[in-house]
Amino acid sequence: MELTGARAQLKISFEVFPPKRDMPLEPVKHAVRELARLEPAAISVTYGAAGGTSSVNTSAIASFVQNECKVPAIAHLTCVNSDRATVLAELAKLKELGVKRILALRGDRVPGAEAVKGPDGFEHAVDLVRLIRDFGGFTIGGACYPEGHPECSHLKLDIEHIKAKVDAGLSFLTTQMFFDNSIFYSYLSQLLGAGIGVAVLPGIMPVVNARSIKRICALSGTNLPPKFRAIVDRFGDKDESMCAAGIAYATEQIIDLFANGVKRVHLYTMNKPEVAERIMANLRGILD
Ligand code: FAD
Repeated sequence: MELTGARAQLKISFEVFPPKRDMPLEPVKHAVRELARLEPAAISVTYGAAGGTSSVNTSAIASFVQNECKVPAIAHLTCVNSDRATVLAELAKLKELGVKRILALRGDRVPGAEAVKGPDGFEHAVDLVRLIRDFGGFTIGGACYPEGHPECSHLKLDIEHIKAKVDAGLSFLTTQMFFDNSIFYSYLSQLLGAGIGVAVLPGIMPVVNARSIKRICALSGTNLPPKFRAIVDRFGDKDESMCAAGIAYATEQIIDLFANGVKRVHLYTMNKPEVAERIMANLRGILD
C-alpha cells in the first residue's frame, strides 16, 4: 500500500500484540482499526513469548488486519518451543487466512518453557526460515540487532548469522529498538559490508512510560544514550510528561532517519493508536 500525503515518501508500519487466550479480541481489534486509519504500510502482530497464551490469537488478529482492515499484515512466528508439526499447522492456518507475510523468529529461551530438541525442533531462526521458504507462499522477514543479540559474543559473528538467515530466504529485516541513530547507521554499513542487501526497517520504540524501559534495555542489550537517559530521569515519574517527551524523542529519531535516506520505519506502537496518531501528526507538518 502506498502512503499518501505527509507520509508519501516514508513508509511506516506499526506493531500490536494479541490478547491472551480466553481474553476478548475486541479491544485489540479496536486498536487495530484506529491504527489502520493512519494508513500504515503494514501492521505486524507479535507471537506470545515461548509460544505463550497470546500466540493462539496471533493468526486471528493478523487475519483481521489483512482482511477486515485491508492493511498488509505481518504475523510473527517463533519456533524454539515448537515442533515442526505445530509450525506447519500454523503456516497452513495463516495461508488459509490470506496472511502473506511472516516475521520468522527463534523466540527467547524462557526459563521453564521447554525447547524442543532434535530433528523435530528448531535451534535457530534460520531453521524456521528454511521451513517457511520450502512451505512456500510467504514473504519472510527476520529480526536483527544493531547493538548485537545479547547471546552473541561479537557483533561480527551475529551479522554472519543474520547473513545466513537472509540467504535462507528473508526479504526484509526489522531491527530491535535503539535510541541512538548513529548505532543504526554504523550497523547498516556493516550489514552492507557483509553482503546483506535486503530492506532493513529500523524499529523505533516511543517510550511513553519509564517504569520498565531500563529493565527492558538491560535485557535486550539496548544502549540508553545520555540524552535519552536524562529524559527518563527527568520525566520518568510523571506519566504525561514522559509520554510527550517519549513521543518527541521518537519523532526526532524518525526525522533524522528520513533525513538520512531511510524510507521505511517500524514503530513499536504496542496497541496504543493514540501514540501512533501523535507521532504521525508531528511528522505530517515536517515531511510534507
Ligand atoms: P536467531 O536469529 O536464531 O538468533 C538468536 C541467537 O542465536 C543470536 O545470538 C544469533 O547470533 C545466534 N545464532 C543464530 N544462528 C546461529 C548459528 N547457526 N550458530 C550459533 N549461533 C547462532 N519474541 C517473541 O517471543 N515473539 C515476538 O513476536 C517477537 N518479535 C520480535 C520482533 C523483532 C523485530 C525483534 C527484534 C525481536 C522479536 N522477538 C520476539 C524477540 C526474539 O524472539 C528474541 O530476540 C530471540 O532471542 C532471538 O530471536 P531471533 O529470531 O533473532 O533468533
